[in-house]
Amino acid sequence: MPKPLERLSEEELARKRVIGRVSTSTLSFLTRAFVEQGFDWLLPVVLSKSTDPLWPDPGASIEKRVETEIYGETVRTTLSMIVHKLVACSTAYPRLFSLSPNVRIEKRERSATGWHAYEFTQLDFEVRGGSFGQVRGVVEGVVTGLVDVLKRERRDELMSLSRLDGLGTPRAPFKVMDREEVVEEYGAEWESRLTKEIDDPVWVTNIPREFYDFQDPVSGVWDNYDLLVPRYGEVLSGARREWEYERIVAKMERDGVKKENFALLLQLAAGRRLRPSAGAGIGVERLVSWLVGARHIGEVQPFPKVPGTVYDL
Ligand code: ATP
Ligand code: ASP
Ligand code: MG
Repeated sequence: MPKPLERLSEEELARKRVIGRVSTSTLSFLTRAFVEQGFDWLLPVVLSKSTDPLWPDPGASIEKRVETEIYGETVRTTLSMIVHKLVACSTAYPRLFSLSPNVRIEKRERSATGWHAYEFTQLDFEVRGGSFGQVRGVVEGVVTGLVDVLKRERRDELMSLSRLDGLGTPRAPFKVMDREEVVEEYGAEWESRLTKEIDDPVWVTNIPREFYDFQDPVSGVWDNYDLLVPRYGEVLSGARREWEYERIVAKMERDGVKKENFALLLQLAAGRRLRPSAGAGIGVERLVSWLVGARHIGEVQPFPKVPGTVYDL
């Protein structure tokens, strides 16, 4: 299990420092890449009345939702910035990204995956009028560019982590697979099985989940996507979005999502002020874990947030 800073040996501190340098280069590369592609950089929010329902999601494992009262109102810590992204993208910021802290109190057994923290950061972005094709272009460009830069500029660090040879620069375009095809081939445990088999990142599309991902009303096919990286698993989730009031309400009612928790979003949709968009969120600590070949996601966090364990910091 990852330990907090004050309990690391000299050798472990040296490893932490090296991972920190790769992490710094990663953040520097990603933020520059998004800014250069015309994205506005929004600072994140922590407390809001409305946040991601994270439901329904076949993989959901939230033990507790953090809510508190301020100024006589109930607010929640950010589960993801999806609601804020949809509103911001539809109004003032047609191309936006944010480094957003997400608090998800995952069930404690998830510490064993080595892939779940109870606080983490998403590089969340959204494009007005966007499509999977556009998102795919942006993501494949930044992932391949990032690995390439790290292998040149962080060569010594990757070598000391025994990761230089193992981390190949992925070849774009990445393969795209439909979830139905994947389930047929790998069964219900497709995510872990596919992750073990691939040598390059792979997109999986058409995954049933939250109301905000677009689902074709006739075919039932979902226009959403996850990106899986070899050996580790999902590093990104995203979608083209629903924007029409009637469809959003129908899906909330179908899925038992409380409409009162999304009052503003529904009000904007009813006023035809939500615009079509597409986007995604990259799990920053997961991306860095894959890049450095981490043994546990807590290793890449300066202050590990391991499900089931609360350290002082
Ligand atoms: P999983 O199925 O792996 O638990 P998820 O599909 O529930 O993840 P999303 O709601 O899609 O997660 O969150 C968007 C992105 O945030 C994920 O693709 C992942 O990169 C990252 N992420 C989600 N949960 C965690 C977590 N507990 N710790 C670290 N990163 C996470
Ligand atoms: N960030 C994700 C998205 O853009 C939402 C999530 O975190 O679940 O679709
Ligand atoms: Mg996901």
